[in-house]
Formats: sequence, structure tokens, C-alpha cells
Amino acid sequence: MAQIKLHDQRKPLELWKLIGRCTVSCISVLLSQFALSLVPRFFSASPLFIQLILSALVLLVVVGLGRCSKRLLGVSGSASAFVFFNILFIWAVYLAVLRPAVSCLMDIAFNGAIIMLIIGLCSIMSSNPGLVTYGSSDELVESSVAEGSVLGRRVRYCRICKGYIKGFDHHCPAFGNCIGQNNHVLFMVLLLGFLSTEASYVVCSSQFAAKSQIVDRTRLETSLSGNLAISTMLFSIFQLLWQINWEKYPEFQDVVHFQQGKYISTHYSSKFP
Ligand SMILES: [Zn+2]
Repeated sequence: MAQIKLHDQRKPLELWKLIGRCTVSCISVLLSQFALSLVPRFFSASPLFIQLILSALVLLVVVGLGRCSKRLLGVSGSASAFVFFNILFIWAVYLAVLRPAVSCLMDIAFNGAIIMLIIGLCSIMSSNPGLVTYGSSDELVESSVAEGSVLGRRVRYCRICKGYIKGFDHHCPAFGNCIGQNNHVLFMVLLLGFLSTEASYVVCSSQFAAKSQIVDRTRLETSLSGNLAISTMLFSIFQLLWQINWEKYPEFQDVVHFQQGKYISTHYSSKFP
């Protein structure tokens, strides 16, 4: 059997580079969230649907401008740090603004969900997806073909991680890791965790908005805290609508069939070859 050379080509990211990327991501989160807060500030009288469309447009403009600025300045951010800071931002708004208006049960549920989400995020970012070896895309393929090994069919190469992953599904930029045999279940649990956390945040911010409209409607529409409460709710609804696109996740296709009244389980084919 041909010997597969085991070697580690992945170099740890230098500390200053990591800090730089995290800083860029943190600034991006702050800019995008404060830009979103302009929607309820100036369009609070508009229906929710219109505010959602406006939020999507604001996000597109901010992302576009952010990309141009990063290119001009020669800096880059990190998608996983962007996700992480967004969670922290939402949590901060919850603790500073929404919490007093939220019921005790909902408070426990939301804080518990967000803590579990952060633990899950850290776990998947540091998890081993099923790494076989690091290397170039040719080495293992040649070895496998020469030996007619089953390994060659089961193991796939990730160009981003520069490694061969067992049960490779796809590389997830948001989690900064490959999704493979070892962390696939965690990935699915985390997706459900995101959906339930976003849904509970929408409930919390709705409770806050309902109470504020009775007590002091003007403050809700004009203060930054009131605007952030509504804009983060819009952001969460937007995220929910974006993520409840089950077709993106082949693993959920059985669920989709069930919802359509067909009880026959079908095999899915991954869209991430
Ligand atoms: Zn990868």
C-alpha cells in the first residue's frame, strides 16, 4: 500500500493578523448594526414588510461599501468573527434594552439559548471535521487511485483548509471550518440553535416594542436604544427568513417531504460535492 505522507501544512495565523481581522469584523458589525438602526429611526410608521426590504437594502449597501473600503485599505475580516460579534451585539442590546420588558421565563430561555450558541460556535470552530491529512490536492488522489482504495471515494479535499476531510460536506466560512464526518451533527444542532435563538429574540423584542408603545411611543421611535431594539428584531427576522431555506441543507429534505404530506423518506444528494 502506498504510503500517504502525513504532514501539517496549515500554519497558525499570526496573532497580530488574527487581532487585525477580528477588529475589522467588529467594526463591520458595529457599522452595519448602527446603519440598520436608521430604518426604524426614519421609517417607523412604515409596515414591517417595508422596513424589512429597507433593512435588506441597507445591508447590501453597507456590505458593498465595506468590501470596497477593505480593498482600498488592504485589510480583510473574518466571516466567523463577524458572526460571533453579531451574536455579542444582539446579546448586548438584549441585556441593555430589552431585558426589563421581557418575562422571566423568556429571559431564562433566551440567555440559555445564546450561551449554548456561543459554546456551540466555539466548539465547531475548533472541532476536527475528520481530517485525514494536510497536503496538495494531487497527493492523496494519486495514492488512492493507484491502490484502488475506498478512502479516495470517501475523503474529499478542501482547498481552503488544504486538507483531506473524511465525510466532507462543505467548507463553512461562517464557522471557519470544514463540515465533515466528525462535526456534521454539531453543525445541524447549531443551525437549529441559531433558528431558535433568533426566533426567541424576535419574541423578546416584540414584547419590548408592545410595552414601549403603550408607555412611551415617542421614545421608542426617537431614542437610539429604541431604534436598536427594532433594528435588531428586523435583523433577526431577516436572518430567520434567510436560514429557513431548507433547500440549502440537503439533510432537511426529508423534513420538507414530510411537511408536504409525503411520508416516504428519500435519499438526498448533497449540493456540496
Ligand atoms: Zn475547509
